[in-house]
Amino acid sequence: MLLSEEAYDYLFKIVIIGDSSVGKSNLLLRYTSDEFLEDSRSTIGVEFATKSITIDNCFIKAQIWDTSGQERYKAITSAFYRGAVGALLVYDVTRKSSFDHISQWLKELQEHTDENIPLVLIGNKVDLASSKRAVSTEDAERYATEVNMLFFETSALDATNVNFAFETMFDHVYKELA
Ligand code: GDP
Ligand code: MG
Repeated sequence: MLLSEEAYDYLFKIVIIGDSSVGKSNLLLRYTSDEFLEDSRSTIGVEFATKSITIDNCFIKAQIWDTSGQERYKAITSAFYRGAVGALLVYDVTRKSSFDHISQWLKELQEHTDENIPLVLIGNKVDLASSKRAVSTEDAERYATEVNMLFFETSALDATNVNFAFETMFDHVYKELA
């Protein structure tokens, strides 16, 4: 059977939010292209990237939206959030302020999306954790449980947990929708 690229059963719109420089664009790049960019600020500016996945023999097109730098100016529009069925909230394990800001990101997200969409808290840059960690796994885990988010520590650089985090989220989204 020949399937066109556009043939799918479900379209999942997912958004990735969090402070500037926590690694959102690189998580997206790692997951969709298995690439990493040392200096990504000026080079990554995609609105979204897609990946085709299969769950229970259903063809799913995951459309994953990046902030493309707008988070720096608090310029994220409601169009960005509209229709999202899941979200990744990312902080940098070496930057405490980025973790402290997650509650603000969560608030903004909840103002724009359905209440019960699956949310995943991501502590990124765990490859740097041995010398530079500023947020403990336990504190993040406790917060994630409190606000009902899944939680993973990832590295876009060495790919630790990146596929797993996205796939686990898609499984949860699928269970909510299917
Ligand atoms: P964004 O602003 O949240 O989209 O962050 P970027 O993906 O542009 O990454 C910001 C900077 O952090 C870049 O210099 C990346 O190379 C770096 N970076 C992103 N992810 C990781 C990671 O997992 N580990 C390390 N060591 N650096 C990372
Ligand atoms: Mg970015």
